[in-house]
Amino acid sequence: MALKFCPLFSGSDGNCTFVGTDNTNILIDAGGSGKQILCALEEIGVDPKDIDALIVTHEHSDHVKGAGVISRKLDIPIYATDGTWYAMSIGGISPSNTKVISSGEPFVINDMVFTPFDISHDALEPVGIHIRAGDLTAAIATDMGFATEDVRDYISDADVLLLEANYDEEMLRQGSYSYPLKKRILSDKGHLCNDEAGRLVSSIAEGRLKKLYLGHLSQENNNPVLAYKTVKRIVHELCKVDVQKELMMEVALRYRVSSMTKLEK
Ligand SMILES: [Zn+2]
Ligand SMILES: [Zn+2]
Repeated sequence: MALKFCPLFSGSDGNCTFVGTDNTNILIDAGGSGKQILCALEEIGVDPKDIDALIVTHEHSDHVKGAGVISRKLDIPIYATDGTWYAMSIGGISPSNTKVISSGEPFVINDMVFTPFDISHDALEPVGIHIRAGDLTAAIATDMGFATEDVRDYISDADVLLLEANYDEEMLRQGSYSYPLKKRILSDKGHLCNDEAGRLVSSIAEGRLKKLYLGHLSQENNNPVLAYKTVKRIVHELCKVDVQKELMMEVALRYRVSSMTKLEK
């Protein structure tokens, strides 16, 4: 069994991740134009016709911009929570392509099992996604003001993890954002900062985590080098795990395809 995982683009402007096995190809979020998503698939060598489904984590435009187009063009189902279906505006989707999922309830697509879990974010019913393919696991946890115990549990057995490292606290506080926007980002329902990402990784790094992508970086209040260095330092301080020797880590690219992780077991 193989598990493939590749962030196609990641950041406050748009998010889309590919996950798959040898038989299944899934997109998680479609926060770009249809063209951008199709180009990214071409780049990783996946025929769009082979995409089986799209899973949407929540209704914010950086996650759903291309969802309607992609579903209609490829005739694939969209899986989203009730709240997300209610809140997202993506145009008409046929009933047969409308699939409702619930936090804590696993659902199966071919040989993969997906379990949505609650995240603390200012959307109607947002979720992170735990992914299982045979004995291999992955998780996506972005868009969260803080990591609950529940989130920690769901990501703790991941072989591959895409985790939010949205902002550097000092850059955000000193930066040009308006006070209400700063308050929103810093709140429990906003986004995760580099330090918190580092602490969260430290709490699971001695488990089975093999590959970590830092993602959903703010353009304005973070940069890839700072996010990488901060998380590496905190992980080393708190649990002595040496990033790059014992744990592969990279920052998911904002507008381009990141490297594909393929695990086999
Ligand atoms: Zn969001
Ligand atoms: Zn987002």
